[in-house]
Parts: sequence; C-alpha cells; structure tokens
Amino acid sequence: MDHLPIFLDVKGKKVLVDGGNTPAARRVERALSAGAHVHVFCPKMSDEFRQLRAHPRVTHHLRAPEPADFEDCVVAYGASEIEARDKRLYEMAKDARVLVNVADVTKYCDFITPSVVDRSPLVVAISSGGNAPVIARILRARIEVMLPAAYGRLAAFVGGFRDRVMQKLKSTESRRHFWENTIEGQVGDHFLAGDEEKAGKHLLEDLDAAATGAESAQIGEVFLVGAGPGDPDLLTFRALHIMQRADVVLFDRLVSDEIMTLVRRDAKRVYVGKMPQQHTMVQEDISEMMVELAKQGKRVLRLKGGDPFIFGRGGEELELLAKHDIPFQVIPGITAASGCASYAGIPLTHRDHAQSCVLITAHGKDGVLDLDWERLVRPDQTVVVYMGLSSVGILSGQFIKHGLDANTPAAVVDNGTRANQRVVSGRLGNIADRVEQSGIKGPALIIIGSVVSMRDDLKWFADHDKTTHQMSLQAQDGL
Ligand code: SAH
Repeated sequence: MDHLPIFLDVKGKKVLVDGGNTPAARRVERALSAGAHVHVFCPKMSDEFRQLRAHPRVTHHLRAPEPADFEDCVVAYGASEIEARDKRLYEMAKDARVLVNVADVTKYCDFITPSVVDRSPLVVAISSGGNAPVIARILRARIEVMLPAAYGRLAAFVGGFRDRVMQKLKSTESRRHFWENTIEGQVGDHFLAGDEEKAGKHLLEDLDAAATGAESAQIGEVFLVGAGPGDPDLLTFRALHIMQRADVVLFDRLVSDEIMTLVRRDAKRVYVGKMPQQHTMVQEDISEMMVELAKQGKRVLRLKGGDPFIFGRGGEELELLAKHDIPFQVIPGITAASGCASYAGIPLTHRDHAQSCVLITAHGKDGVLDLDWERLVRPDQTVVVYMGLSSVGILSGQFIKHGLDANTPAAVVDNGTRANQRVVSGRLGNIADRVEQSGIKGPALIIIGSVVSMRDDLKWFADHDKTTHQMSLQAQDGL
C-alpha cells in the first residue's frame, strides 16, 4: 500500500478550499457533508456553488489565501487551477503543518481524495493510489449498485445497540459472531424489509440467548472452499463471503498470496501446504485439527487450490468431520483444467477436435504411473494431466508408445491464471525438451490433444495472455 487510509474527523473544524470552479465545488461539498466549516477563496464562485454559497458553514473570501488563514485549519484543498497559486498554497500549508491536497498535482499532495460511496454512517472510500482514478470511479459505480441505500440506516440502527451488546457479551469474538449472525440473519432481513420494530425485537431476543451461555456450547462449522487456480477474480462470491467470515483458515501452497489477502484480516492462518514429496502436515493431522477447532466453536475455513473435489483430497478430509458430526459445507472452485485452458486460449472440447475431456493425475498413490492407457489414447479426446510436470518425459513417451501420434499437439501451462502464467506448447514428441529448456517450476498442468492447436487458430499470442490477465489484475485496484 502506498498510502495510509484514514477517516478524518473534521466536524466543527476549519477546512480551506482555494478555487471557485467545479473541482473546488466538489471539495466544498465533501467537506460540508463531513461537518466542516469551509473557507472558500476565489474572486467568483461558479454555478456549481449555487447550493453551497448560502450554506451557514461556508465563508467566502474574495482574495487569495494568506498564511494567517491556515491557523486552526485541518485540511487545505488547492483547486485554483493556477500553477503559481497552487505552489504558494502548498508552501503556506507546509509552513503551517496543515494537510494539503492540490487537485491533479501529485507533488503538492499529502493525501489522495478517494472515490466515495456514501451510505452514512457507512462510507466506502476507494483509491487507486493515484494510478488509475478511472478504475476507482468504475469500482465506485459498481459498489453503489451493490450497496442497498438502506445499509446506511442499518448501520445506524445497529450502532444504537452497540453499548448493550458490549455489556452483555464480554469477548470480542462472541460479539463479532453475534453481529454477523444478526446482520446477515433475520434481524438484517426484517430491517431491510422496512420492519424496524420487528428487527429490534429479534435483536434483543438473540442477544439474551447469546448472553445466557448458549454461545460457548455452540459447535463451529467447517467450510471446504475451492479458491480457484490463482487469479482472485476467479473466486466465487460464496467463497469470498466465507473467507471474510472465517475465524481460522487452513491453507495450501496452491492458494495464491493475492487470494490470502482477501481472507478476513484477523483470522488465524495455518499453513498446511504440501510440496511434492514433502508433507508439512499429514492429512490425518489436518482433519483432526479441523475437528478440534470446530469443537471449540470456530468457523474453520479449509481453503484449497482449484476445486476441493478434483484431485484435492477434499473427500478424505471430510470423512473425519462426518464421523464426529461436525457440520460442514463444500464450496466448489474453478479447477486448474478450466482456469488454465481458458487463460491459455485452449478450449478443452471443440466439435472439430474433441468430444470428451479426461482429467487425470500423474501422481499415483505410491508415486507410480499406473494409468489406463487404452482409454487415454482415444482419438477426439483431450487429456489434462494434473501433477505431471516432473514426469512429462515419461508421460509423453508412454502416450506415444500406446498409440498417440508424436505430432499430437501438447501444452504445459505453468502458474495458470496468475500474473506469471507461462505456456509452453509443442507436440508430444518434443514437449518434454521444451519444458526442460523453459525452466518452469510449476504448479503446471499438461494438456494433450488437437484442441491445443486452437491456440494458434485463435491467434492467442503470448502478449495477449499477458494483457488480458493484467487487465483483470488491475481491476483489483482499490478493493
Ligand atoms: N484441486 C486442484 C488440484 C490440486 S492437485 C484443482 O482443482 O485445480 C495440484 C495440481 O493442480 C498441480 O500439480 C498442477 O498440476 C495443478 N494446478 C493447480 N493450480 C495450477 C495453476 N495455477 N496452474 C497450473 N496448474 C495448476
């Protein structure tokens, strides 16, 4: 993060705005809505000031600001659009140690003015760190749509019960659970449906129930969530929702760092990743840990790369939970095969190329490649191999030996869907050499079949991979 986001209390305090055009009007408006006394400096106010100039907290000065004007001032905005005047304003503000922001002149800014969604008392501020204000504005528009207007009122309503809840529920965790269940449960439903009275009644009943000890006896829940292949944009809404409500998260090596930043900040993080041939934590320990945590009443998030039920041992992890009657939910994710194929321009099926697609793993139970070759070398079929990078030579040799043409197109997608995605393509006969030359380290997926040639037909060049992916990464800005 390049900037520290804070919400400044300017109620009853002095804010200075230098300028009389549109940018100045926007700043005056914002400062007024936060309760400031605004001093505007300009010879003439534009039409934009129509509603503002008569405001009781606005003082209009016809002259330019002077050092004495910065006394007791908390924030100064420069919007005169005159270079020399902006510079002077910045210097005076610095001498007086007042935070200053000059519109569109980064060198004269102590802070950035974010794009704002105002559902007071709920406020969302978005910044792109000055890199792409347009993206921040687009995001703001999306959030505007997402956040029902009544959310602001809901926040105020909830605020009215805060002290009572503080008194009755002593631990931070129990309060957080209470509020989450309240807001996302019946109380929130009633309130947003316009029935404030019923919402209040429910809230007090829930509070009594929580305070009479029911909460400590409560059993937790385990959420087995697929995090997709790496690009955070490929998470499901449900995955994100659960990630933001978890108490503890157990995560794998395959879960990307960008995705981990979306997990609730104060959730406890436990790395249970496995490198090939190196097991940080054995499967039984992971399952036992989940049982233990759930018994303590925790909301346990088991976050796995791709989809938990596709070569993810998700089923195995659930068996112990079922035995102990721990409630659990499974949330699917985009598996590496579909993520990598889409981001590499390879349709896994195509009427002219492949009518079926088989997903296999080259990592047998005891490290032995024991595959049903007859079924794998059928024509008109795409084969996708998980965990096959280290055996790509043996694999391609076996495919050829069992009847596939050495000219069959093949590709290896390394770090698929991530910013560092690389695609090595070739044919069964030379793919192993090309992989070796490329030096890729995985995680990587092998795709074999004539659909791989579609990449060229679609003119899916390396640059294209990059731009499409970078676009989707940029969309993260400010979130
Ligand atoms: N449950 C996961 C798969 C786990 S097995 C899923 O549904 O995707 C681990 C294998 O998945 C890796 O060895 C690799 O073959 C593949 N894989 C996972 N993420 C990948 C990525 N971002 N790019 C390429 N391959 C990936």
